[in-house]
Amino acid sequence: MRIAFIGLGNMGGPMAANLVSAGHEVHGFDLAEPAMERAAGLGVQPAHSPAAACRGAEAVITMLPAGQHVDDVYTGQDGVLAALPRATLLVDASTIDVATARELAARAGVDGHQMLDAPVSGGVTGAENATLTFMVGGDQDAFEAARPLFDGMGSKAVLAGGPGAGQAAKACNNMLLGISMIGLAEAFTLGERLGIKPETLFAISSAASGCSWAMLHHLPVPGIVETSSANRDFEPGFAAAMMLKDLTLAQEAAAETGTATPLGSLAQGLYGEFVEGGGGGLDYAAVIRLIQARSGPGRA
Ligand code: NAD
Repeated sequence: MRIAFIGLGNMGGPMAANLVSAGHEVHGFDLAEPAMERAAGLGVQPAHSPAAACRGAEAVITMLPAGQHVDDVYTGQDGVLAALPRATLLVDASTIDVATARELAARAGVDGHQMLDAPVSGGVTGAENATLTFMVGGDQDAFEAARPLFDGMGSKAVLAGGPGAGQAAKACNNMLLGISMIGLAEAFTLGERLGIKPETLFAISSAASGCSWAMLHHLPVPGIVETSSANRDFEPGFAAAMMLKDLTLAQEAAAETGTATPLGSLAQGLYGEFVEGGGGGLDYAAVIRLIQARSGPGRA
């Protein structure tokens, strides 16, 4: 397929490169020159504007920081929606708010395009290794048409429902992940102060009812779980600032739907405090440092 790829950052760059490796013709655009150069080195053909990347494209993929950027690229002053031939397949893989995803899909439909929201899980490693999971919202037809793209960039794609359902699933999943990580940070800090070695608590809890995905993969203490960022001074991984963004999106969705999410709200507050204190660039597991800092000296 001939593909326009807009947003060639940490995630988009390797995703576009994997589409090239899968045999697609990819024309890429990013506002940042270094991102353009890196992608060009990986076989992506550089375009000088989003419109230039989209010329003749059968599919457009966006991988941008937030809803405002995605909205600008599609419907802003030089937005690509108006310039595309009818019935182009549009896939927004960015993590954005549900409301913007739904509005954009409706707007694209008016111009005769099919649009999917398809946020991902798997991080930069998943983007590089083409092992991302896509959570997709939109029509079944568009989902099937986009399969070769998902296959080129990931190992799993799940259609969650209509427009916005992919973003909704991502918001729920990451709210759960953020809450789980704070729970782990609290339990392992408390355990240590009660005299239980982290490796002992892990051996017990990982085989008991307290077990979670976050515990098995991202335990916030070093030396136990190989894939944990705690072994590398909390180098991300999945940055705490990104977790804060996702928790904020979940809180917006909760407010819009009148859903009570007290733990989600608390998690957003704690990650907010951690990011404000300078931790935004660390892995989200580093939130254990906030819990440790808030804890008293403990009993000898
Ligand atoms: P990034 O900041 O590395 O990349 C975003 C890129 O978009 C940048 O290169 C920026 O220059 C470019 N950009 C911004 N506005 C633009 C515009 N108008 N036109 C063209 N390019 C523009 O971010 P990332 O880590 O690649 O994340 C991208 C998206 O993926 C985000 O929505 C993020 O929440 C989501 N995500 C990230 C991860 C992760 O681990 N990094 C995991 C899952 C999902």
